[in-house]
Amino acid sequence: MAMAVSTTDVSLPPLVDGFGRRHSSLRISVTDRCNIRCFYCMPAEDVVFRPRRELLTFEEIEQFVRAVAPLGVKKLRLTGGEPLVRSDLDRLVAKLVAVAGIEDVALTTNGMLLAEQAAALRAAGLERINVSLDTLREDVFKQITRRDGLSRVLAGIEAAQRVGFERIRLNAVAIRGLTEAEIIPLARFARLRDLELRFIEFMPLDADHHWSAGQLLSGADVRRILEREFGPLIPAERPDPSQPAVDFRFADGRGGIGLINPVSEPFCGDCNRLRLTAEGQLRNCLFSTVEWDARRLLRSGAADQELRNLTRSCVAAKAAAHGIGRPGFHPPERAMYQIGG
Ligand code: SAM
Ligand code: SF4
Repeated sequence: MAMAVSTTDVSLPPLVDGFGRRHSSLRISVTDRCNIRCFYCMPAEDVVFRPRRELLTFEEIEQFVRAVAPLGVKKLRLTGGEPLVRSDLDRLVAKLVAVAGIEDVALTTNGMLLAEQAAALRAAGLERINVSLDTLREDVFKQITRRDGLSRVLAGIEAAQRVGFERIRLNAVAIRGLTEAEIIPLARFARLRDLELRFIEFMPLDADHHWSAGQLLSGADVRRILEREFGPLIPAERPDPSQPAVDFRFADGRGGIGLINPVSEPFCGDCNRLRLTAEGQLRNCLFSTVEWDARRLLRSGAADQELRNLTRSCVAAKAAAHGIGRPGFHPPERAMYQIGG
């Protein structure tokens, strides 16, 4: 049975790692399942998903969050797999926004089921939505996701705006030889609809392990393409040093662009993020090869203090940086959909 956290607990020492990084952000994967099959994330066929009994229940997720919120965890992001394939996600949102100390609950989604769920998520108290959208062309969408569905994603974005989500952000993975021609149309689309747009470098987290440095379309490359069309991008203020994106404004004042460059310009030095996988394993990095078993504690009736000790151990063991491109770097065995992006 989950113990309620008293307000006096809010003064517990924060989650600081061996490099002085204070951890306040938790990404929670709610499922490894997905309704599309992006090549940079999942295998095309024969995906083996975790049995449902292995996934944390909403109540277990809530208990974990209640335990770590007094350590300074303030921001939550629900992800997956595709979080909206998990039934009644709005029920989890409502539980999490009610936890003392949690200031912000956000969602990353592929948008395929957003049109149906946007209103309920909003009503449950969800603050922000990121929608992954790499292209506005149906054929390229199918090439990337191995499924149809672009029109559903676009309908999802429209519905989210209609029900009152402000600051909807589009996330596009940039891939050399594939998405260069998508950059300008996406930027025009985002500017026209008052959406934020971020380009993310392709990381070696694809299930097929086909990633190669040659497929990297770096943030600098994306910036050059944008500047050829729109003129110089103006660096924006960086209110939160732990944010992964470097932000720019368009010179004409209409909209902005974020560049997330984990490969070409790693931002590990300011990382404040922890991850909880769908089956309750705590990770201190996307590229971590070690996990801390929160589910075992949650299912053995452990006290909140034990969950906090586990979380402190995880944070204490965090490496200085992910090391992509360095000698000896090995991507984790688990792919992005199994970790939670
Ligand atoms: N299914 C949801 C979605 O696609 O938004 C949430 C989970 S997905 C793993 C989270 C984010 O990770 C998405 O924006 C996706 O584009 C990104 N992503 C997946 N694989 C990636 C990779 N190998 N490199 C960079 N970004 C990746
Ligand atoms: Fe699914 Fe998101 Fe992975 Fe694409 S990136 S396969 S939508 S989990």
